[in-house]
Amino acid sequence: MERLTYFVDILLPLPLQNTFTYRVPQELEGEIAVGKRMVVPFANHKKYAGLIVRIHHQAPTAYITKYAQSVLDEKPIIQDIQLDFWQWISSYYMCTLGDVMATALPSAFKLSNESTIVLNPDFDGDVSTLSEREFRVTEALHHKPELSIEEISKITGLVKTIHLIKNLRDKNVVMVKDEIMEKIKPKIEIYLRLHSDYEDEEKLQNLFDRLEKRAVKQVEVLMLFIHLTNGQTHREIKRSELLKELPNATAIIQTLIRKDIFIPVERTEMRLESADSTHALNDIHLSNEQQIAFDEIQQHFQNKNVALLHGVTGSGKTEIYIKLIEQAVNSGKQVLYLLPEIALTSQIIQRLRKYFGKKVGVYHSKFNEQERVEVWQRVMNKDEQPFQIVLGARSAVFMPFDNLGLVIVDEEHETSFKQYDPAPRYNARDAAIYLANLHQAKTVLGSATPSIESYFNAQIGKYALVELLKRYGNTNLPAIRIADLKQETREKTMHAHFSSLLMDEMTQALKKKEQIILFQNRRGFSLRLECDVCGYMPECTNCDVTLTYHKHSDMLKCHYCGLGIPVPQKCPKCGHSHLTMKGFGTEKIEDDLSVFFPDAKIRRMDLDTTRSKNAYRQIIQDFEDRKIDILVGTQMVTKGLDFDNVSVVGILSADNLISFPDFRAYERSFQLMAQVSGRAGRRDTQGSVIIQTYNKNFPVLQQVIDNNYLAMALSQLNDRQQFHYPPYYRLIRVALKHKDFNVLEKGVTALSQQLRENFSNHVLGPNFPLVSRINTYYIKEFLLKFDRRINITEVKKQLSDVLQNFSKHAPNKSLRVVIDVDPL
Ligand code: ADP
Ligand code: ZN
Repeated sequence: MERLTYFVDILLPLPLQNTFTYRVPQELEGEIAVGKRMVVPFANHKKYAGLIVRIHHQAPTAYITKYAQSVLDEKPIIQDIQLDFWQWISSYYMCTLGDVMATALPSAFKLSNESTIVLNPDFDGDVSTLSEREFRVTEALHHKPELSIEEISKITGLVKTIHLIKNLRDKNVVMVKDEIMEKIKPKIEIYLRLHSDYEDEEKLQNLFDRLEKRAVKQVEVLMLFIHLTNGQTHREIKRSELLKELPNATAIIQTLIRKDIFIPVERTEMRLESADSTHALNDIHLSNEQQIAFDEIQQHFQNKNVALLHGVTGSGKTEIYIKLIEQAVNSGKQVLYLLPEIALTSQIIQRLRKYFGKKVGVYHSKFNEQERVEVWQRVMNKDEQPFQIVLGARSAVFMPFDNLGLVIVDEEHETSFKQYDPAPRYNARDAAIYLANLHQAKTVLGSATPSIESYFNAQIGKYALVELLKRYGNTNLPAIRIADLKQETREKTMHAHFSSLLMDEMTQALKKKEQIILFQNRRGFSLRLECDVCGYMPECTNCDVTLTYHKHSDMLKCHYCGLGIPVPQKCPKCGHSHLTMKGFGTEKIEDDLSVFFPDAKIRRMDLDTTRSKNAYRQIIQDFEDRKIDILVGTQMVTKGLDFDNVSVVGILSADNLISFPDFRAYERSFQLMAQVSGRAGRRDTQGSVIIQTYNKNFPVLQQVIDNNYLAMALSQLNDRQQFHYPPYYRLIRVALKHKDFNVLEKGVTALSQQLRENFSNHVLGPNFPLVSRINTYYIKEFLLKFDRRINITEVKKQLSDVLQNFSKHAPNKSLRVVIDVDPL
């Protein structure tokens, strides 16, 4: 009978639409499985670790298949259900499956490296068996420690070097430095265990007697071992610990292993800290309101998959989540707990670990590669301390779950659940709901200020709505007051950027040793340099934005591309030296505060001060420990943090929140102001919130003061319906980018025509976005709007065809096309 040839379809972590078929070498047939990675050659000597997504026997007809080179994994690294999830993301968000893979896998899993050859450290220098070409390569390696395949080609004049390399490997002369393999090596420790024969005291004594005379050194090592393992029933210790005490004992340990006295055991080490639970779950006593909400969620789950938990700040949503998690965990299911910011995880993780101990894993982008792989593996494999609960930011939706029972999306309204760049431009909240459906799991979306989309879904009955409108322990919601900047400016009662109202509150609070949070909506919008004579403002040469002054580095910086230039002494345009700083950012506020409150400890929390992994945690810790009196921050301070000594919150400028040119500005400013306000007065005391504005009549301000989410939501829903925006309409943004403005314009004109032919009046634009040039690329965009009731899958297919067709034509090939589905 004829042997069947095996082929695998491989998915590469590249922005490509298709998978590629490779032939499986006969000796690897037994090792392949869907979900394992293989090293495959792709395009000019490049090697990639790609995923096997299908195994079959049909040779492709369009091209000659290459051989896949090796199998990297013992077990699949993803679950079958994940591939379905990736497929959905790829089609819903209109990107390639390779894009999804590249985002979904920890980077250590998807390294592509040109392999290099190094000398084998065991090579004894005997060159007599080498061919002329092999000798030349070996010689070269004495001069240069690593050679690429391309270099080997040059040295040998061979196009195909595989055989030569294989021979050199077989002769133990070289090794292929396969970084793909190296990167994911788990940390392995060797433990030495005493052979069970000697566990018995008497037999151990016999052993000593037997060794005593001839092997002094062996006795010494054994004695130390016995000493260090005292009290253990099965004596065992890390070899490295033994060596710490007796650094020269390597050979003797080897001998003891050979004699079967020590048994070496390899153990994978955990790189991540974890701790046992310290609290019992029945320590949690839900309040009446919480219990009702909890019961309602349970009831709704009988016929709905998603529940929106609308609970005011401090209402104790987390305790409800914990109770729900308990149920899922008890029934053997996995739990995904999504948070908008990794920064938030440290507070929540402590609360979860108290109850669930080592079952809780954290996953986010600030972990290093090894840590991420370890979390991944502890979700994937059930053998060693599996993580049954994963807490994480956006990318945690890609964890290899196979038995998800519950998804929690906390602060579901937050925009950071959406990935802007690169593709897939997915919204983790929405993707998580789909993921939950794949697993037939339930989802809770929680927020004090739900997104209009989710609220709408609850209104039309797609989601269940559960409300928790009282704070836990009946702490009062804060008193919110408006500081009228127009009036204060007129009456000259302002102190720099602080109204007298806010100044008074802050002074009081500091006197009482209470803490203060000041919110300035972004680090940008901040300090700009402006010429008093001609009005010139230094702009970024790569982007269409003004540069921002950073005092710390004394430079002007671009927040889009990172460009930094020294501060000019004279106006480059008119030559005058009247350059002054305008606007105010977090840094400036921090400065001014230190003038008014010289004794207060002031800290700033924004993107600049929290770049490193622990900086954020440190600031929060210091604030909790009351080492900081006034915390000045951007959006970051608004997000669900829970401090119990904050009595004053100041929102320094509501105006640039509200008048931001975006249809969501109204919703966003409500959310932001309500969330920041929520930080005030958590326990016993009523907190105080001061909102500074030049336009005290904005209706949204009154809604924040009254804590009237409903009024805000209804007015927004009304507007959105009238002006054809989400949730009534779906949006797809298509942007074109090019460095050459003229090329861009031509492309835009062509695409405009094609889009209109296909989608007529659903197309808006082309327009310049708010920032029309970023990183030397000019940008123009179209917005497509579709009634939510039409079949969007069909629309996307058609749009995909139009765009592919467009990009095929020569003049458009160089244009970058960016598709953003459900843009935020
Ligand atoms: P939310 O997330 O809704 O803003 P939290 O879950 O952070 O509110 O709860 C606010 C505070 O109330 C926290 O300090 C929390 O520990 C406390 N709390 C809430 N529910 C309970 C409960 N059932 N028992 C004890 N403390 C609770
Ligand atoms: Zn720039």
